[in-house]
Amino acid sequence: MQTHQFQTEVRQLLDIVIHAFYSDREVFVRELVSNASDALEKLRLRQLTESGIYQPERELRISITTDEEARTLTIADAGIGMTADEVVEFLGTIAHSGTKKFLEMMKENQGGPQDLIGQFGVGFYSVFMAADKVEVTTRSWQPEAAPVHWVSDGREGYELGEAAADTPRGTSILIHLKEDAANFSKADHVRYILKKYSNFVGFPIDFNGEHLNTVQAIWMKNKKDVTAEEYEGFYQFIHHTDSKPMSYMHFSADAPIVLNSVLFVPEENPEAMGFGRCEPAVSLYCHKVLIDSKPEKLLPEWLRFLAGVVDSEDLPLNISREMLQDNSLLRKISGIITKRFIKHLEGVAKNDAETYEKFWALFGRYMKEGVVTSWEHKDALGKLLRFQSTFTEDGKLTSLDDYVSRMKENQKDIYVLYGASRAQLENSPYLDALRARGFEVLFLTEGGDQFVMDSLMKFADKDIKAIDRANLDLPELEDAQPDRPGLDEAAATALTGWVSETFKDRFSKVTTGNRVTNAPAIALQGENDLSPEVKAYFKAMGQDVPENHPEIEFNPHNPIVMKLAELRESDAALAELLAGQIINTALLRAGMLEDPAALADNSQALLEKLLQK
Ligand code: ADP
Ligand code: MG
Repeated sequence: MQTHQFQTEVRQLLDIVIHAFYSDREVFVRELVSNASDALEKLRLRQLTESGIYQPERELRISITTDEEARTLTIADAGIGMTADEVVEFLGTIAHSGTKKFLEMMKENQGGPQDLIGQFGVGFYSVFMAADKVEVTTRSWQPEAAPVHWVSDGREGYELGEAAADTPRGTSILIHLKEDAANFSKADHVRYILKKYSNFVGFPIDFNGEHLNTVQAIWMKNKKDVTAEEYEGFYQFIHHTDSKPMSYMHFSADAPIVLNSVLFVPEENPEAMGFGRCEPAVSLYCHKVLIDSKPEKLLPEWLRFLAGVVDSEDLPLNISREMLQDNSLLRKISGIITKRFIKHLEGVAKNDAETYEKFWALFGRYMKEGVVTSWEHKDALGKLLRFQSTFTEDGKLTSLDDYVSRMKENQKDIYVLYGASRAQLENSPYLDALRARGFEVLFLTEGGDQFVMDSLMKFADKDIKAIDRANLDLPELEDAQPDRPGLDEAAATALTGWVSETFKDRFSKVTTGNRVTNAPAIALQGENDLSPEVKAYFKAMGQDVPENHPEIEFNPHNPIVMKLAELRESDAALAELLAGQIINTALLRAGMLEDPAALADNSQALLEKLLQK
């Protein structure tokens, strides 16, 4: 017998686990049954490629026994087992990254939401919620490995020794229950807990000598034959959670590929809760045999929040993980499932707006990620996007489809405006021209939105245009009086020519036009300029970014502009100061003024000059 200390993190985790809520306790049964099932899956997969397996004829099943008198519960499997080294690694350290994250979270909010144990299972160690001593007896599938016996009270450490020579292949976990957890040694209580999950375990379960589950893979069944409760139970089992899924999709196809899949949208987003990046949680099966529980390439990255199962009989059973990385069949499967899932979400949006709103709040940014990274799905994903707009109430969202249905007859494009918040954007000078024409403008206020729209480019065959850009091409105002006072064409050309000459190299173009109704001028993003967000991104990547050369558009009907056209000839010095004032103010309103001091200096000089007059 050797005594070992638990890794510090394990001790910290155990300390939390031991003090967990009484009501969370039963999750340990789910965790241990899931480990037994994993161990059996691993053995079944090994059998396909290895011939030297210890006790090859031993049946793949789970045996569970209660002993009320001894106050114990035993969960045993004929799975892959563990060698002594593996026991030290798997049951003495925290290998699972999710568990590590859980621990960090718990440390951060001291005494915080203890019930997270129920929501994010902590695996094997959860047994110490109910046990004051646990004995693990295990024998690896490798014929030469010695059987191992592990004992711990879940506090400081554990003892490790050899197990009896006749120990069969697999793992047996003998749980000595705490006094106040005695109900886990009662047959009726344990049967009740097992019923919840055992239907989804792909191996027979014996309970106190009687056969418990009828093995069934719900994803292979006809969806008419599966109840909502069964889907929920299945989700809770595979995703180690107590909560219900927000939404699920059950999909089967025979052609071009035989596919059966159940996918779940969780009700929480672990990434948003600080748990770090989600690991893939959609497992890959070939005719009910697990091939990979966390396949990296099965679904695109932006669907990493999903849980579930994809089963295809067309995959070769003995496919290796390396082959999975680069497999054209897998790519096809990925494409089909992704397409179906987008359709599913469209259905949710149509038939259950409330759920879709919740979905969008939690997972909307993954859909945007999809637009940017999955070229082949971007148009379908466009239908799922939601934004605020000049036509929505504060905080309410619209789809692009609804936007298009509201477009005016003389409106060609979809208009968007980027910025930090709705409140800020509502004061934007760019809105004038669109409001005056009754055109709706989408407010895009999240980081990355410019990349999303630059990737999308079009929706329903309409170009998406940022209204701070030069090339907007708006129709004339319907109620514009042709005879209102303003510069004629010759005067306008002379003025803009003079401004370009006077402010050489600062602007790519100086024009007159109809983009502002009140202000004297407006600054526009040059047609080929990088947007501020894209510029900031390249800068952060350490790349040189070209300077922007905005355009200035004067309002030929504005009295100050008309005065400027006169002054240009009578008092060139004053005209230059006035033009500088108009231009800098326009740049400031557009958020494009790089040097605010220039505006202040110009104001001062202008005032001095005017007071001398
Ligand atoms: P996870 O299952 O998420 O990896 P657990 O804490 O539940 O985390 O289990 C830790 C590891 O211990 C498993 O990955 C597995 O390698 C090993 N293990 C646990 N139970 C068994 C078992 N019944 N048979 C074989 N290995 C097991
Ligand atoms: Mg586990």
